[in-house]
Amino acid sequence: MIKKILVANRGEIAVRIVRACSEMGIKSVAIYTDADRHALHVKKADEAYHIGSEPVTGYLNAHNIVNIAVTSGCDALHPGYGFLAENPELAEICARRDIKYIGPSAEVIRQMGDKVRARNAMIAANIPCVPGSDGNLADIEEARLLANKIGYPIMLKATNGGGGRGIRRCDSDKDLIGNYERVISEANKAFGQPEVFLEKCVVNPRHIEVQVLGDSHGNVIHLFERDCSIQRRNQKLIEIAPSPQITQAQREYIGELAVKASRAVGYENAGTVEFLLDQDNHFYFMEMNTRIQVEHTVTETITGIDIVQEQIRIADGLELQYKQEDVKFRGYAMEFRINAEDPKNGFLPSFGKITRYYAPGGPGVRIDAAMYSGYEIPPYFDSMCAKLTVWALTWEGVIERGRRALSDMVIYGVKTTMPYYQEILKHPDFRNADFNTGFVESHPELINYVTKVPPEIRAAAISAAIAAHEGI
Ligand code: ADP
Ligand code: ADP
Ligand code: MG
Repeated sequence: MIKKILVANRGEIAVRIVRACSEMGIKSVAIYTDADRHALHVKKADEAYHIGSEPVTGYLNAHNIVNIAVTSGCDALHPGYGFLAENPELAEICARRDIKYIGPSAEVIRQMGDKVRARNAMIAANIPCVPGSDGNLADIEEARLLANKIGYPIMLKATNGGGGRGIRRCDSDKDLIGNYERVISEANKAFGQPEVFLEKCVVNPRHIEVQVLGDSHGNVIHLFERDCSIQRRNQKLIEIAPSPQITQAQREYIGELAVKASRAVGYENAGTVEFLLDQDNHFYFMEMNTRIQVEHTVTETITGIDIVQEQIRIADGLELQYKQEDVKFRGYAMEFRINAEDPKNGFLPSFGKITRYYAPGGPGVRIDAAMYSGYEIPPYFDSMCAKLTVWALTWEGVIERGRRALSDMVIYGVKTTMPYYQEILKHPDFRNADFNTGFVESHPELINYVTKVPPEIRAAAISAAIAAHEGI
């Protein structure tokens, strides 16, 4: 039985994993670089080891991290998301050092991390995919030929991409020529791998993904879907479970499709199969994420299943505790990725000291964060500083709960995306559950969310403030 886990991550997801360990009576070991000396995951874990002065690279040194797991007496390692979570070498090193890797096999991580190989595996398994490359693009000429055959618009994508980076829509031959080198260089910079491929662009799709769990005994189930259509630049902002935009019949179809896709690659542990839903209600496989996802909280909230604890049980060789028919969901959950960014200034990162932090509570409210009053958000990492997940029985209810919890939450010291989310919650299309991945870009007015104050009223307010200040 697993008794001690090394958490190979930082931030809120490291804290989340430590919490799961604590509830299961498992010891947890944190790692940290200089920038994270005062981080919450270090304070919460049972033990913590320094892994270097440079802020980021310590978290990317698989050999060093597995060494710490071995010397500190861990029997398992959880990769979280980001960093090494989709690096098959970490899983391989763990296997060699007799540390249980809490995730799928290195071969499955490698196969699904390569979006071209993943597409081909899905096509072979009769899972619908949008038309696209059957290999990496050799050069711009091959790209142009294929794009002309498929028809514009097309998406040019980094084969090994993630986190919404290395993806460009091209509407014409000219666009493709302009973007080709750019996507290659983005892929190289972000992932150290220059391979790109293309596929048909689904216009104004909804992003619907399915959470799956597979054990080492061949059982695979799904925990229903999440709607992650509210995105900016292909990055998710708000995630919802279940999707308010699909029917029960579509829900059953997509759940079964995700299980079939997972079985086809012999998937083990928690994973997510991402689909695009087009305007004619066709689903297409997009990619599979072979790790815990940021938005797993909404699925936990509607099903009551602790996905991180299930991951640990599966890695321990246990059989799934649930059969498909045991998995039920209730109500709606919505997660807000609260980023330290200024939505009014092009979502520019806004790092610094949290001068005051107050976490909302009350019914149906969950916070996953790694900050506290006085904590200084380091500038080296992702800008997501907290996740707020709310639950209610109805769609209308979850919107109101989100609005209430966002207004209760206080984060001073940095700008955040919270006020922007309040605007989305007010929008009639959102409230009518009618949105797609183009929602944010097609509503630029939501960025200027402050009510327009007429100049004469503004002038009067300024004079009144000066008068008050001077004690007139
Ligand atoms: P990542 O690995 O970065 O998550 P994905 O392949 O999952 O990349 O795509 C991220 C987002 O980009 C999707 O959620 C969707 O909004 C958009 N996208 C990707 N491929 C397509 C496509 N073929 N047509 C339309 N939108 C797409
Ligand atoms: P999710 O799929 O859980 O919604 P995101 O795509 O938002 O996750 O990514 C979560 C974090 O993981 C981000 O910090 C992102 O940059 C990072 N990430 C995602 N995919 C990769 C990848 N293939 N390589 C490196 N980092 C990644
Ligand atoms: Mg994705």
